[in-house]
Amino acid sequence: DPSAVKGKTYAVGTDTTFAPFEYRENGKMTGIDMELIRAIAQEEGFEVTIQSLGFNAALQALSSNQVDVVIAGMSITDERKATYDFSNPYFQSGIQMAIAENNDSITSYKDLDGKTVVAKTGSEGESYAKQHASEYGYTVTSVDQSSTMYEMVKSGNADAVFDDYPVLAYGVSQNNGLKIVTPKVPHGEYGMAVNKGKNADLLAAIDDGLNKLIASGEYETIVAQYLGADG
Ligand code: GLN
Repeated sequence: DPSAVKGKTYAVGTDTTFAPFEYRENGKMTGIDMELIRAIAQEEGFEVTIQSLGFNAALQALSSNQVDVVIAGMSITDERKATYDFSNPYFQSGIQMAIAENNDSITSYKDLDGKTVVAKTGSEGESYAKQHASEYGYTVTSVDQSSTMYEMVKSGNADAVFDDYPVLAYGVSQNNGLKIVTPKVPHGEYGMAVNKGKNADLLAAIDDGLNKLIASGEYETIVAQYLGADG
């Protein structure tokens, strides 16, 4: 019953730097996910406290009931559905590879032999990178934050990064020093997650609020604000 959430406060776990979905601007958490969850909360009459924990830490906090819900550009996967219940999908995404802007020696996965690839702990980008590591002969290093991954690639401590393509594309458009050289790998959609079998009222309220934001055009306004009208 979505109306059971009215007047309640829920703890929301999220990533630290995953622009344009969540990142800090003037000290405040902003981005598509942040605006969405705040707009849904307002629509449905509940309050949120946002905890910027990091992706893997947010999932752990959810598993141990330290947060009620995670919104973190989190891909809906069958494996995760064993542990979490997801909202309706709200954004189509997938994985892509980026390298340093000034690197002309890598133009495909085949050029990764003997190289180091960085990915985010616990992410779909990490599992994709690991799945193809022996095929292409690279080593995978995992870190907790997208900003660290990009710094490592720019400084030469890693040769390439696997991350979600809307996030890589946004970073490149902000001149983050990287470039994209391989095709997108479509890989599911983002959803908000609660612990399996827990917080069914909250999940119902989230779906209800999301539907309302889509119907009113506010969802599209939020996305367009960060990604332009084609986002
Ligand atoms: N969409 C990816 C996943 O769910 C990455 C999420 C993230 O890094 N915040 O694994």
